[in-house]
Amino acid sequence: MTTSQQSADLISRQSGQRWVIGNWKMSPAYAARNTLLDAMRSYHAQGEVKVAVAPTSLHVAQVALINDQVSVLAQDISQFAGTGAHTGEISGELLTEIGVMGVLIGHSERRQMGEDNALLSLKLQQALASGLNVVWCVGETLDQREAGQAMRVVEQQLIPLWSQVKALQGKLWVAYEPVWAIGTGRTAQVRDAQQMHLHIQQLLMTHELSDVPVLYGGSVKPDNAAALAAAPEINGVLVGGASLEWASFQAIIDAFANA
Ligand code: PEP
Repeated sequence: MTTSQQSADLISRQSGQRWVIGNWKMSPAYAARNTLLDAMRSYHAQGEVKVAVAPTSLHVAQVALINDQVSVLAQDISQFAGTGAHTGEISGELLTEIGVMGVLIGHSERRQMGEDNALLSLKLQQALASGLNVVWCVGETLDQREAGQAMRVVEQQLIPLWSQVKALQGKLWVAYEPVWAIGTGRTAQVRDAQQMHLHIQQLLMTHELSDVPVLYGGSVKPDNAAALAAAPEINGVLVGGASLEWASFQAIIDAFANA
């Protein structure tokens, strides 16, 4: 599937499709990766559920060729355009030419390394200029939630989007990932996630961004996926650890397909 077909495909999400996206982070190593890719080869699209994975930059080109029913995202994008003397950087242009259809921006693991709204705004501009779709990640820490600041924190993390509203039409997902739920085995209560998702949707609509899928992320596993999938405010999930084994990722896809 070409990048433009994938983009057209993404736009068709407005029909109420739900998304299951795997974030492989800095994994898996050789043997586990081969096992995962072998299993991914035989995946067939199910119902209205769309599936994407975000491998390491090193592996996006390989993964893009495995199965055209699984879209490929990048985990990061350079703030710099095109090509040039930027050691270690990968531009939007280089990502699109190998079949990447979107990019994660603002993941808490990168925010914790010092990525702030100023840098994330530059990355957002580069993604949109390259025609990439964007998964904009937001989420509060446990201290912030306990201090009653969760909504205010998420509001601030969404600010860079508001200057790009026109370019973002049909190209945006938001992933709500409470930091205290990522990789910890703790999941937000479905009702807390629903409340935050509604708040995010209201903010998006205030800024004239409609039909934006809002995904939940944070220790999504086969055993909690059905409860998340049953909530209409949760338009899909961003899955870390459980996306590294196809059987558990498939079980999460099944939960959304059968919801
Ligand atoms: C993530 O990092 O995006 C994530 C949700 O990780 P996990 O599912 O492992 O909590």
